[in-house]
Amino acid sequence: MHIVTYRGEYKSDFFLKRMAPSLVSNFGEEKISASAELFSYMFPPLLVMFSFLFSGFLSSNLGVPLWVDTFIVVFGIALGVLAVALGEQFSRVADYHRDTRCGECCEPFACEEFEKPDVKELSTPHSYSVKITRYWKCKNCGHEEARTGSEGIVTCKGDPGVFTPRKISCRACGKNAACEEFKRPDVKEIKKKFWAGVTTTRYYRCKYCGHEDFEVKKQRI
Ligand SMILES: [Zn+2]
Ligand SMILES: [Zn+2]
Ligand SMILES: [Zn+2]
Repeated sequence: MHIVTYRGEYKSDFFLKRMAPSLVSNFGEEKISASAELFSYMFPPLLVMFSFLFSGFLSSNLGVPLWVDTFIVVFGIALGVLAVALGEQFSRVADYHRDTRCGECCEPFACEEFEKPDVKELSTPHSYSVKITRYWKCKNCGHEEARTGSEGIVTCKGDPGVFTPRKISCRACGKNAACEEFKRPDVKEIKKKFWAGVTTTRYYRCKYCGHEDFEVKKQRI
């Protein structure tokens, strides 16, 4: 079993952070969450589809020049990207509201992180998990609270069907290709709006001296 603990980072700032309290008091968190979904998943495909249809309609019925067509399609795609970005901001507002309401005095937007979070990665031959514990303190009543969650990080063991033991040379005794993988790799996926970061950790043990080693590979998909 491998346990790795380290300090993570504070939650990052976002564009609409200062406006979050007034947005939430005017519209409520439910409507903001709903708009986050609409802007992220519904509007972009509709905008792009509509711009294609509209430019097709213009060129076949009115014979507008090609650059007008192209402009409309590019404009539609740009609006789609803007909608995704806005959706992301709305979901950050809803998260921020949930995070910062005090569990003691119930004051909204009162808590802030007062210590960097602890991250704990637990890896066994059959399971792998990542848990993040954040420390919140209320500015209003001083109440401190630790909350643990996975924050949308998806973890799994490498696929056993694809898993083929690989070898690296041993750093302790220096023998070539002496370290063999001895358990299934850990795979961690952190989703962002337009891509996902995948981290694969493979565990090796030297068959001569027993030295253990690991290899971390990061990629974007
Ligand atoms: Zn409080
Ligand atoms: Zn080794
Ligand atoms: Zn060795």
